[in-house]
Amino acid sequence: MPTITELRASYQSGDLSPSDAIRTLADTIESTDREIQAYISYDTDAALAEAAKADLSLPLGGVPVAIKDVINVKGQPCTCGSKFLDGKYTAPYDAGVIKKLRAAGAIPYGRANMDEFAMGSSTENSAIQTTRNPWDTSRIPGGSSGGSAAVIAANEAIAALGSDTGGSIRQPAALCGCVGLKPTYGRVSRYGLVAFASSLDQIGPMTQTVEDAALLLQAISGHDAHDSTCVKEAVPDFNSFVGQDIKGIKIGLPKEYFAEGLDPEVKSTVEAAITQLESLGAEPVEISLPHTEYAIATYYIIATAEASTNLARFDAVRYGHRSENAANLIDQYRRSREEGFGEEVKRRIILGTYVLSSGYYDAYYLQAQKVRTLIRKDFTEAFEKVDLIASPVTPTPAFKIGEKSDDPMAMYLADIYTISANLAGICGISVPCGFTRTDDGKQLPVGLQLLGKPFAEGDLIKAGHAYEKSTDWQKTAS
Ligand code: GLN
Repeated sequence: MPTITELRASYQSGDLSPSDAIRTLADTIESTDREIQAYISYDTDAALAEAAKADLSLPLGGVPVAIKDVINVKGQPCTCGSKFLDGKYTAPYDAGVIKKLRAAGAIPYGRANMDEFAMGSSTENSAIQTTRNPWDTSRIPGGSSGGSAAVIAANEAIAALGSDTGGSIRQPAALCGCVGLKPTYGRVSRYGLVAFASSLDQIGPMTQTVEDAALLLQAISGHDAHDSTCVKEAVPDFNSFVGQDIKGIKIGLPKEYFAEGLDPEVKSTVEAAITQLESLGAEPVEISLPHTEYAIATYYIIATAEASTNLARFDAVRYGHRSENAANLIDQYRRSREEGFGEEVKRRIILGTYVLSSGYYDAYYLQAQKVRTLIRKDFTEAFEKVDLIASPVTPTPAFKIGEKSDDPMAMYLADIYTISANLAGICGISVPCGFTRTDDGKQLPVGLQLLGKPFAEGDLIKAGHAYEKSTDWQKTAS
């Protein structure tokens, strides 16, 4: 599929209209998605109606964008990958990011599959369907924004929005060979994003190129009065970082991110990308993020605690699944939640309720908050010495469907390189940096992660674009 930039150029030259673009996508979805299973739903007629009145003078005029099924788009279903909402909820309003996308001229088209309530790393926790990685359909696309990454890799979308609580934009982008950017906490409004862990969640762009990520980020960034955590920080012109030179920038290599547990092929691929950055003038500096080993435990306490309170709103009274067999109100809550939520969601609600309960709160939740402060401090100190941090996104390439579904701990451990950025609230990007090969000769994409200082998404775009321009990974089709 054309990139956003290419699509805009063909609109300007008159070679293509937004309606043509929607029709092409609809045809591809029709022929491909039966196998990939990346869209939960899509409404081509609604998208065509919007395409007919697209204002091409706007920055994203007539550009279709796939939306992770956790973000409210007025009049469309929003299932969050859950039986609790499937067929039982239609969004009554546009999320903050959707209002901003529309103001920039974009057309929300297609609802991308995801792990239920964004809890997972493989999209296997979706109660709706199992999405396949377009590079090797026996493998997972990553998660929780697996649908958003797969639609791009399968040419079923030009670009997409995902959400990232512990890696859910960067990890599927890495495993499907696209670009995924997690903005700084507070950069982008979460109004209308169904909350998983409110101190960690961010919405961000998933695209074919870094330049497209800059365009999409530009459109969705900035203050929103409906989200008190969305700061009034000025939004720079992200596109101005595209094409800038990276001579002399210092790139920190955290020794904890290249240690045991990292697949040797992923390691050598990421190291080659760092050598490439060096040849473009970046200066590598070895650094340490000493509290990395506590990050997973800290995240799975804080995220589950917040999830357990956020998901209390699913009470079967106002909306969503309601059990038909309830004897009384308490029984109705209990049965509806038992029937409507999947196993992983229940596991997290139980864990989160436990760490918040009286007698355990100090030992777990409070302690985790203290460690979170130490993790944040690791980054503050590192960023006194370096401009950016580079690392792998995931310890391994995409794994086989079913390989880790019975072992939640193995699944959690795979988040090791991404979750610290959420705990620290900083920004990060995943950029394709090469492939590993499976025994049966298939190519599996590998991602390079760049982490930046708070509100320095421009630096990620600058270095990500410089790297991307010097390679041609993003042109390799799945
Ligand atoms: N894999 C992590 C989890 O399961 C991250 C999910 C996310 O970022 N939404 O919680």
